[in-house]
Amino acid sequence: MARISDLLAAGTTYSFEFFPPKNEAGWLSLGRTIAELEHLSPHYVSVTYGAGGSTRTKTADLVSWVRRQTPIPPMAHLTCQGHRRADIRDILTDYRAEGVQNILALGGDPPTDGSHAASDYRFSGELVDDVRAFGGFAIGVAAHPEGHPRSPDLRTDRHHLAAKLRDADFAITQFFFEVDHYLAMMDELAAHDVHKPVVPGIMPVTNLAQVSRMAHMSGAEVPRWLIERVGKAGDDPDEATRIGVEIAAELCVRLLEAGAPGLHFYTLNRSGPTRQLWSSLGLDRVAG
Ligand SMILES: Cc1cc2nc3c(=O)[nH]c(=O)nc-3n(C[C@H](O)[C@H](O)[C@H](O)COP(=O)(O)OP(=O)(O)OC[C@H]3O[C@@H](n4cnc5c(N)ncnc54)[C@H](O)[C@@H]3O)c2cc1C
Repeated sequence: MARISDLLAAGTTYSFEFFPPKNEAGWLSLGRTIAELEHLSPHYVSVTYGAGGSTRTKTADLVSWVRRQTPIPPMAHLTCQGHRRADIRDILTDYRAEGVQNILALGGDPPTDGSHAASDYRFSGELVDDVRAFGGFAIGVAAHPEGHPRSPDLRTDRHHLAAKLRDADFAITQFFFEVDHYLAMMDELAAHDVHKPVVPGIMPVTNLAQVSRMAHMSGAEVPRWLIERVGKAGDDPDEATRIGVEIAAELCVRLLEAGAPGLHFYTLNRSGPTRQLWSSLGLDRVAG
């Protein structure tokens, strides 16, 4: 079974996210990470796509490598900003030829250098429509439990989320740290009569400065209690990782108890925290 919609229909999924490295050393390190995580038998792995297509070929290379060299179904992230419809058709044609069956259809962000590439798309929902019309892919979209930073308000964001999710098969969330953000979003989607699976994205905090930077860009909040708890590690990186994994495990347990359909781990291309989290959740016994 390779389509994520089928995997979600069959039961709880556990999945990992990787990004295509920028240099040779990064590829070597990612190779080791994948080797270390592969034996955990995740249900699928996803590969990010650079803003405006900047990692287009690297994303495709990594997705194809996973498809050919491992038994794990891959999902290719694809952003619509900066793309023409013909680009998207070419990319989908290549993925179809490669046997890839899952696409995460994303809006993407405008380039930070202020440049502006011509685009046939404005929002991810338009990409969902094109991928659906192309055919053959299970389609995921991004969900932002605390709202997307470019939205005027949460209500508007939920309205657009509900609309795109109605046409997609499932969503994966931005990382978040309070279970209530996820539960409120699920209630609001239900009020829009949208009941598709929404998989929480989980980020074990191992480096407060890095996560605070990422949270600022994505509109997520790093709660004070979390900063204080991880801060107790002082300058000890191993202790910070241990505490970060402990916090992530607590969140995962509460999410699964509340009915989350799966967990998607942001690995940041490192295996250690994900393996520790996997083990804390007792998943070695379930899926390993
Ligand atoms: C799981 C996950 C994976 C990601 N992977 C990547 C990646 O690989 N590469 C990358 O560059 N980025 C990635 N991102 C980041 C993402 O591209 C950004 O958050 C981006 O700013 C928004 O993406 P989106 O798909 O939510 O966009 P959209 O759904 O297009 O939404 C963007 C904004 O427009 C609003 N909106 C949506 N539809 C409409 C409409 N019809 N009319 C008016 N307003 C509308 C939304 O409310 C939101 O404020 C990922 C995010 C998540 C959660």
